[in-house]
Amino acid sequence: MALTGVEIFKLLPKTNCKKCGYPTCLAFAMKLAQGQVSIDSCPDIPEDIKQKLAEASAPPVKSIMFGVGDRAVKLGEETVLFRHDKRFVNPCVIALEIKDTLSEADINSKIELVLNSEIERVGQKLRIDAIALTNDSNNVSKLNAAAKIVATKASDVPIIICTGNPEAAEIVVKQFADKKPIIYGANPENAETMANIVKTHKAILGVTASAAFGGSGGGLTELSTITEKIKSLGVDDMVIDSGARKAKDILRDNTLIRRAAVKKNFKPLGYPVITFAQREDSLIEALIAAIGVAKYSSIIVLSSIEKWKNLSLFTLRQNLYTDPQVPMQVKQNIYKIGEPTPDSPLLITTNFSLTYFIVSGEIENSKVPSYLAVMDCEGLSVLTAWAAGKFTATKIAQFVKESGVENNIKHREIIIPGYVAILSGAIEDKLEGWKVTVGPREANGIPAFLRSRAA
Ligand code: SF4
Repeated sequence: MALTGVEIFKLLPKTNCKKCGYPTCLAFAMKLAQGQVSIDSCPDIPEDIKQKLAEASAPPVKSIMFGVGDRAVKLGEETVLFRHDKRFVNPCVIALEIKDTLSEADINSKIELVLNSEIERVGQKLRIDAIALTNDSNNVSKLNAAAKIVATKASDVPIIICTGNPEAAEIVVKQFADKKPIIYGANPENAETMANIVKTHKAILGVTASAAFGGSGGGLTELSTITEKIKSLGVDDMVIDSGARKAKDILRDNTLIRRAAVKKNFKPLGYPVITFAQREDSLIEALIAAIGVAKYSSIIVLSSIEKWKNLSLFTLRQNLYTDPQVPMQVKQNIYKIGEPTPDSPLLITTNFSLTYFIVSGEIENSKVPSYLAVMDCEGLSVLTAWAAGKFTATKIAQFVKESGVENNIKHREIIIPGYVAILSGAIEDKLEGWKVTVGPREANGIPAFLRSRAA
């Protein structure tokens, strides 16, 4: 079980030397118990105590880096059952399955889809993160040939090699030397050999109780027995699969796994979960994947990645993996949209990310170069900020005066969102010499509004 702040305090040097940045050892201990500070911040903890504290303060779901370089992704590190308890930490990885039975041309086109899957949404780059290469042929040479293509064409994409055959795993993993791949397919029969392969090649081991992969289909009990055995062999970087494939079983097992890890600190199930969502019907596949995104999968394998499906899953993932206590926000600034001149219109809005990206997108759509004044309202949207007293006439006037926008434009007109039309008179009172124009209530009215003014 995790140590409490007081238990941690008892292990600290108790000199209150402040080198950690906290006034007392007790204050540091409390922060450490909440996972808000690293043990390394205190230079005076002896090594053996440090190790004990590191184990006690480690997140209940193990943190594992998958892949290397810019495209590497972190798995696990989760600490809660519900997002509103704190936050979900590392967004689940979405992987595209590539079967080794496909032709070279088909493998190449799947790789292209992965490489071109990136989109930008509210300032974040979202994409298909990994490739799951499956040994459908059951033939080592075929798997190795497909692996060669993937290793050449998608050299920096994190890879999951799916095979229960240790001979195939041993050969194919060499194509991904030093790339920290996952070898998925360890079961009760091959656990020892597979553990030795990942140890030699510094890979991650995918452990399964799935009957299709040599397990008995014994679910979580079998799974925890295998992970304990593998850990005793010196391998602790694992992702786990209970073998569930039906939606209700995935939901049940993923929930039981997370609950066991978080509430009971049950280490044999304290690993990131991999979910295989492949279905013939793409819509059903998207629904299964959505269950995985919402309920605790750290990796979700798909058979196809149509744009509509990516967009839905990326959006769901992004929404769930933001910190509910910290609104997404952009920097307060005067943003140029297009190439505005001193005669270009000036619009104002708040700094909630979604508001900013929607408004700036609609201004771009209008093709009317403009200035967009984005005011810091602690990441709140226009109406919420107004209701909270953060988007008021006084504050808007002060922001406009201090922003320096008067040096960029010749006119003195500001366009405010239609939802706060009520502020127009008060802003004119506080901003001497300025005219306030009320813009559309909804952002999608901006293109027509700006074009009609420019005509
Ligand atoms: S650096 Fe270590 S010993 Fe010093 S106050 Fe912080 S926790 Fe205590």
